[in-house]
Amino acid sequence: MAVQTPAHSALGNLLSYASTVPMPPGTLVRVPLGRREVLGVVWACEERSGDEGTRELKAVAGALDALSPLAEGWRDLVAFAARYYQRSLGEVALAALPPQLRDLTSQQLARRLKRRATSASTPVDAGLSSQDSPRGAGQAQSGPGSPDLAAETDVAHAVEPSAEQAAALARFEAETGPFLLFGSTGSGKTEVYLRAVAALLARDHAAQALIMVPEINLTPQLEARVRDRFEARFGAGAVVSLHSGMTNPQRLASWLAAHAGQARIVLGTRMAVFASMPSLKLIVVDEEHDPSYKQQEGARYSARDLAVWRGQREGAKVILGSATPSLETWHHSRPADGEDPGGRYVRLAMPGRIGDGALPTVRGVDMNLQPPKTVLSGALLDAIGQRIARGEQSMVFLNRRGYAPVLACADCGWKSECPHCSAYRVFHKIDRTLRCHHCGFTERVPRACPACGNPDIAPVGRGTERLEEHLGELFAPVKRSDGSPVRIARIDADSTRKQGALAQQLAEVHSGEVDVLVGTQMIAKGHDFRRVTLVAAVNPDGALFSSDFRAPERLFSLLMQSAGRAGRDANYLATQGSTAEMWIQTHHGSHPLFQALKRHDYPAFAKQQLDERRVAGMPPFAFQALVRADARTQETAQDFLHAANAAADALPHAAQVMRYPAVPLAIQRVANVERAQMLVESASRVALQRFLADWQPLLHALRREPVGKGVIRWLVDVDPHAI
Ligand code: ADP
Ligand code: ZN
Ligand code: ZN
Repeated sequence: MAVQTPAHSALGNLLSYASTVPMPPGTLVRVPLGRREVLGVVWACEERSGDEGTRELKAVAGALDALSPLAEGWRDLVAFAARYYQRSLGEVALAALPPQLRDLTSQQLARRLKRRATSASTPVDAGLSSQDSPRGAGQAQSGPGSPDLAAETDVAHAVEPSAEQAAALARFEAETGPFLLFGSTGSGKTEVYLRAVAALLARDHAAQALIMVPEINLTPQLEARVRDRFEARFGAGAVVSLHSGMTNPQRLASWLAAHAGQARIVLGTRMAVFASMPSLKLIVVDEEHDPSYKQQEGARYSARDLAVWRGQREGAKVILGSATPSLETWHHSRPADGEDPGGRYVRLAMPGRIGDGALPTVRGVDMNLQPPKTVLSGALLDAIGQRIARGEQSMVFLNRRGYAPVLACADCGWKSECPHCSAYRVFHKIDRTLRCHHCGFTERVPRACPACGNPDIAPVGRGTERLEEHLGELFAPVKRSDGSPVRIARIDADSTRKQGALAQQLAEVHSGEVDVLVGTQMIAKGHDFRRVTLVAAVNPDGALFSSDFRAPERLFSLLMQSAGRAGRDANYLATQGSTAEMWIQTHHGSHPLFQALKRHDYPAFAKQQLDERRVAGMPPFAFQALVRADARTQETAQDFLHAANAAADALPHAAQVMRYPAVPLAIQRVANVERAQMLVESASRVALQRFLADWQPLLHALRREPVGKGVIRWLVDVDPHAI
């Protein structure tokens, strides 16, 4: 009996092992590899007569047979992801499994399973309970999917679905999808997801649902909401989370519960797309446009795209939801009235806000007409001041953290460059450091210019820290209606480094302690703030002229999402006698992006962008991949890519693939490593896939030749996000 397991090896060839007992594909095994013993997955198992052909094989050390084998659907997903993203099967399979599984012997695993089974709160299932649930065991009054209780608790949670929500749900039930839930910010998309999940779980007592969110830490609200909604009804442990903020034991517990079918809902980030869910029937991808669905290291997969593939493979319905869908998804979706029948996705539109709330009025401030060096225009400050007086909240959005992006000497021209990167170190006033946001290199701010000794080195430009300080100074003389001082707060990657800090800061905003919140894109996403009535983007222009063709798309969605934080509670606005406003300070007010934003007109923006991309032959009208090489010198990195390019001439699909010259990355050097990349593009996805598959072995071979010797690493990024 021979067992094949994918191994850690970069080549990803299946390795063969011997076993005296048959092992079904998907069985988890421990196998010897070199001098170590590693985790493997049985991929195929074939019988051999006698011990012929198996004598030279090493034997499987043990099977983790307390676990049922990984299902065929899961193995297909892993195989597809490996093939599509040009990685080895073993690498993808191992990355898809919880890390702790690698370290457990079959005895340890069996003990763990037994412990969990005896402490499980749901007697119906012999499987596992997630002990990480804050509610703990013993809360559940019923087994999974008890319909009577289901009906009751639904009433307890009852909000009547809006007409738009009801219509979206009806179409969701009637059709197979995949679906794009195109709903304005505040239209109640989450409620639609949760109702779709609830209906499925009540109807099918084994069914599982996967709910994916971009960054779970950003929306602690959601996790609580999902648990509240479903744990009473389907038992504690019915909901598990999967994301990188969890400890390895927590992740393993969640994974095991999903694999055993006991967890009915998995709520997770992009990694959750690989969760083993034997009865998966529904996948939700919330904020499907969010760039964090794209993994940026190792196998550079798009969890959104894999979710669509997985749904199709396993017969699970898929809902992609967004107020600002990715242009790819938008292009693939068809409007309800059936025009443009080309799209594969069913578009469910919810243009209105819950409670008939209006989307905020967008006000542009022409910065060309402001006095030089204006940070916040007088009109904007007035508007914020009025809100403070009424006890409402404002949000000021600036996508740059730190105090100032550069520190400079006016005498000699010295700037705070990072010695290890082709980038400036950012000045952080709070701890008086210069920090490189690329390699992390940090130093105390020098007392005087390191080049000429001038003591007057000054910050140039502005980040969130400086904006917070500035607002603090401006509003220092102002008092709130209760006489207390105005409270300015800041949320960004710096303010939230400590565990629990973000949740705490968000809670302070929700409770109304904060008057003005300054922050990066972290504050733009998903939050359901009830008292925010004004949002301002103070310096959004940079992204308009970026060399990255996706920059306008990202900016538009960020601004729409930011606007979506204002005026979410129509009742609150009415009782306050207030209006919701989104302020944009710009030098380019007539830019079509801002014009579309003013009208909240995503379709118009998308059409304009898609027209441009069609003409230019860019995604979604073409398919792209990047090959990147890192080396000590730019020349070494580029030489490797030149050689790779030359080697590709002979490939069968070369004529259908456009190859661009190797160029340095936008940030060319990081941590003393020079980076170069080469774009390849084709109008045919299949041609590009075949081309890349044929090219891979040549690249591996080149790495061993003199031209590849100095290369530190190379990689392929399929459907890259940043070019
Ligand atoms: P979105 O995700 O589309 O921005 P949410 O799902 O966060 O919107 O919903 C916005 C707000 O409206 C939330 O506070 C939510 O609880 C509330 N809500 C959603 N659906 C309804 C409904 N049918 N009736 C009353 N309130 C609702
Ligand atoms: Zn100087
Ligand atoms: Zn650096």
